Amino acid sequence: MEIVVSGIRSTGNLHLGNYFGAVVNYLKMQHDYQCFFFIADYHSLTTHPTPRNLHDNVKQILSEYLACGIDPEIATVFLQSDVPEVTELYLLLNMNAYVGELTRTTTFKEKVRQQPDNVNAGLLTYPVLMAADIIIHKATKVPVGKDQEQNLEMTRRFARRFNTMYKVDYFPEPSAFNFGHQLIKIPGLDGSGKMGKSEGNALYLTDKPEVIRKKVMRAVTDSGPVKENQEMSEPVKNLFTIMEVVSSPDTVNHFRDLYNRCEIRYGDLKKQLAEDIITFTTPIREKVHEIYGDNDYLSKVVRTGAEKARESASKTIREVREIIGFKPF
Ligand code: AMP
Repeated sequence: MEIVVSGIRSTGNLHLGNYFGAVVNYLKMQHDYQCFFFIADYHSLTTHPTPRNLHDNVKQILSEYLACGIDPEIATVFLQSDVPEVTELYLLLNMNAYVGELTRTTTFKEKVRQQPDNVNAGLLTYPVLMAADIIIHKATKVPVGKDQEQNLEMTRRFARRFNTMYKVDYFPEPSAFNFGHQLIKIPGLDGSGKMGKSEGNALYLTDKPEVIRKKVMRAVTDSGPVKENQEMSEPVKNLFTIMEVVSSPDTVNHFRDLYNRCEIRYGDLKKQLAEDIITFTTPIREKVHEIYGDNDYLSKVVRTGAEKARESASKTIREVREIIGFKPF
């Protein structure tokens, strides 16, 4: 079975964009591939070196992914910091990673702009740790967004370089994986662009009903169609896009017809949309709450996940040490 590795950042809660853009695909993938899903808590230190609540953030995001349906009995779910083998591979890969290529990566340059007072070595070697996370399980597929394509190219380069330098055919070169399904972009409620944490326009899976109602009722629209079958403006199209993922086809068609007949009242559309989002998110929110409060379950999940991940990682480390030339006396 092909191996998939995916890291999940430990900063920020999941929103509808994350759910319909990524999580639904994880849910399908876990049945078809051998999946390693980890929470990248070491990586979070490159931007948040002294987090006030690292543990709580990790616990929250883990609870959210589990509540969505990632099944730790099928997929290996673990914390990056529970697999110290990865730091050894990171160190070894660092010896063959060059400052020039690292300073040239787009994500590094972006971070230098964003946090000029904290251009740390972890930031510079972020792609090396990412490569270690992926190749330590000999993954062949990595579900990443467009923004991570260059980092994945670096992963391939480090894997290839290792094979060439030590004259082996050891690490596979993993490729980006778009799940084999159509990619979807969930828009925000502010009329343009995508839904995102940093955009401040997100509907979170754990938002309470009254918060969802408030956010949706404030969503940008327009002054309404003036002729039949009029092309929709961006903000209105966006509301329909969200409706398509949370509401029934009948509901979507009903409002589309009203729009096409110029009889739509955006207030009604928003009310319906808010209720459908609430119906969709409520069981997930309740489940997050339940899982978050179940420390025994969470600790069992990460313990089992760490065990499985370490088994795979330590085998790689043993072989890598031998390939490089570290041998027991
Ligand atoms: P991020 O929240 O940017 O770390 O993204 C985590 C995952 O969610 C990535 O796979 C993104 O491609 C996906 N994602 C984030 N925002 C959206 C969105 N608005 N629409 C679709 N997918 C998204």
